[in-house]
Amino acid sequence: MSFSTLGLSAPLLKAVKEQGYSEPTPIQKQAIPVILSRKDILAGAQTGTGKTAGFTLPLLELLSSTKPAKSKQSIRALIITPTRELAAQVGESVEVYGKYLSFKSAIIFGGVKINPQLTKLKKGVDIVIATPGRLLDHVSQKSIDLRDVEFLILDEADRMLDMGFINDIKKILAILPKQKQTLLFSATYSEEIKKLSDKLLNSPVLIEVARPNIASQSVKQVVYPVDKERKRELLAHLINEGKWKQVLVFTRTKHGANRLTGQLEKDGITAVAIHGNKSQNARTKALDDFKKGEVRVLVATDIAARGIDIDQLPHVINYELPNVPEDYIHRIGRTGRAGNEGEAISLVCIDEHEYLANIEKLIKNDIQKVWLKDFKPDPSIKAEPINQGGGRGSNSRGRAQNKAPQSPKKEHSRRKNRNSI
Ligand code: AMP
Repeated sequence: MSFSTLGLSAPLLKAVKEQGYSEPTPIQKQAIPVILSRKDILAGAQTGTGKTAGFTLPLLELLSSTKPAKSKQSIRALIITPTRELAAQVGESVEVYGKYLSFKSAIIFGGVKINPQLTKLKKGVDIVIATPGRLLDHVSQKSIDLRDVEFLILDEADRMLDMGFINDIKKILAILPKQKQTLLFSATYSEEIKKLSDKLLNSPVLIEVARPNIASQSVKQVVYPVDKERKRELLAHLINEGKWKQVLVFTRTKHGANRLTGQLEKDGITAVAIHGNKSQNARTKALDDFKKGEVRVLVATDIAARGIDIDQLPHVINYELPNVPEDYIHRIGRTGRAGNEGEAISLVCIDEHEYLANIEKLIKNDIQKVWLKDFKPDPSIKAEPINQGGGRGSNSRGRAQNKAPQSPKKEHSRRKNRNSI
């Protein structure tokens, strides 16, 4: 099947061709015609499936085939994403696919100066790609008019809820017009997502490319059991032996990410950390350096890594398993993207066995375990409770599966920590 059969017009097909895409991905095949028929959709699709083009292409098509908005200041399409990185990447896709159309778009997120955004909005834009907090700042300053929004896209809605954005989302929904087409994308399903979609979507068409909660098939997954104290040594060994040039490594906490980065540098392996304590500019630079191949290892926390789009990332390492099992799926979605083979390796110590069991339960599969000759765990070491390091908290789903309930005060600070990652 080629893109030309999907109902997209010449300017979009030309832009797609320039990207070198020969054939639409499964999500694109399914979603594009449905969106073009003006229906709401609820799509279960992970990052790496081509979902961004799956909604951006038909959105641009609909915008060019329908009448423009009433006033210069009104926004016709609003795309909300959980993180700045994802907003930037979706914004880039809108530019790339809309290259031969004349729409103006603006990327709106916090952590950077608001003035350039104000200037851009004042000139008038058709499409806004925003994170919830900064979007609401603009709403309260009246620098953005959302009353004429015709298309609403919630990208990675599950992550938005995880990050505690539900109230912001509700506030935004309250000012949007009732009559609009809404597209909701989520990598995983939960009760909260169901509730949100029931409220928001009008007879949606359900689209699923990989069954929800099943990790991407093109990713080879393996667990290396290893003692906690020897993880750093094993990681350096894997990177050096495999002559890996580009590897994404996940830690549970910001502190852990910094520490590991320093240790890798000491081992002579170039590394950089990306997490919420870094400024937006530092995060962008870290990602650029990694993409350019100037550093071999990008060490990331879960939320900071969301939406990172790096073509053909061959290796993802879980230096520490996530305490929220769904995060495992998000993490390994960084590799094996759009049909490329990828490898997700988890270094698992005895303390993490419960986390591993929860992940295997979620993906409904046992992950292959490989005991490396020189790194076999010492059987005399006993499991100890995992210190969350004050960096990353659990969420309601993770807590239900992993932990005893926290006191309300503690839970509040855990959520706050999580939001700040
Ligand atoms: P996404 O799931 O939107 O994050 O996209 C993942 C990656 O797939 C991006 O790097 C896209 O450029 C790429 N991609 C999107 N559509 C296609 C396609 N039809 N063929 C090949 N690559 C694609």
